Amino acid sequence: VRATRGGEEVRAYVPSMGQIFLRRFQMVTQFRQAIEEGQVSVHYQPKVSLPSKQVLGVEALVRWQHPEFGRLDPDEFVPAVEAAGLVGVLTGFVLKEALIRVRKWMDEGLRMSVAVNLSVRCLADEDFPAKVTKALQEFEVPPELLTFELTESGVMADPQKALPILRELHTLGIVLAVDDFGTGYSSLAYLRQLPVDEVKIDKSFVLGMGTDLGDLAVVRSIVELGHSLGLTVVAEGVEEDIARDQLEAMGCDVAQGYLISRPLAEDRLDAWLQARTARSPGRHTEMVLTL
Ligand code: C2E
Ligand code: MG
Ligand code: MG
Ligand code: MG
Repeated sequence: VRATRGGEEVRAYVPSMGQIFLRRFQMVTQFRQAIEEGQVSVHYQPKVSLPSKQVLGVEALVRWQHPEFGRLDPDEFVPAVEAAGLVGVLTGFVLKEALIRVRKWMDEGLRMSVAVNLSVRCLADEDFPAKVTKALQEFEVPPELLTFELTESGVMADPQKALPILRELHTLGIVLAVDDFGTGYSSLAYLRQLPVDEVKIDKSFVLGMGTDLGDLAVVRSIVELGHSLGLTVVAEGVEEDIARDQLEAMGCDVAQGYLISRPLAEDRLDAWLQARTARSPGRHTEMVLTL
């Protein structure tokens, strides 16, 4: 494909439908084995309290280092994996990795939570809460150190099915977050009915809030709405100092984004945390981060 951008000719390689289909087919058929072979891993992105600058925890984000296609981001392979009915395999893997990570922190005396992204398809599995309970018991992690992030459009697609499972997870003591808030054609009314604790403002608004008054207004109203419903408000996509300062001034509770850190592989996360940790004397170790 040839196009011009600012007078300059740009050539882009656009794969054919057949190639896209083949690639998806390969991803789906290879996924289980990829996990077994260690091609799939979990990266972690820190979440930081805006008022205290304390590192509260991390979000687990899956990665696939494919031998042929290179590094695949979840936006490419998660939908294919979901469509193929393999979401249980994916979620099981990420959840286990995440709980092992929290357990290690607990053993070091650190109280850090982990957030795992759930596909709505997980909520179609009636045994899902039992599986999660079993995993929490196996790694001896208290439920309040686990957060599940779900997109609003996902939950709203089939609320009849999703709601009972969500209520069950919430009753277990797991923290529930609505991800990418503001993007679906949602409904503030629905948010009130969901058993959620946290709302994550979609990064598109946070990225735009420095230059676009509309985005700024959306961010401000989500912070206000979230607080009026008693929810923790998290901003994702915090890339600039200005955005962080504005969010802090608005009273947004938690920030996540490249300004603080990109998602990191486990060893790099450890180094990142160590460089920013001040261990307070006493029984409890406190993580203090200076941005
Ligand atoms: P998400 O849950 O909304 O995750 C946030 C995405 O924003 C991540 O992309 C993260 O790398 C990116 N991000 C974080 N900070 C910034 C920033 O400052 N600027 C910009 N431009 N981007 C930032 P990633 O890792 O590619 O994940 C994309 C999506 O894939 C996630 O969106 C989530 O919906 C899904 N996903 C990731 N891991 C899993 C998983 O284990 N299971 C399921 N079901 N979905 C997953
Ligand atoms: Mg998320
Ligand atoms: Mg998001
Ligand atoms: Mg997303």
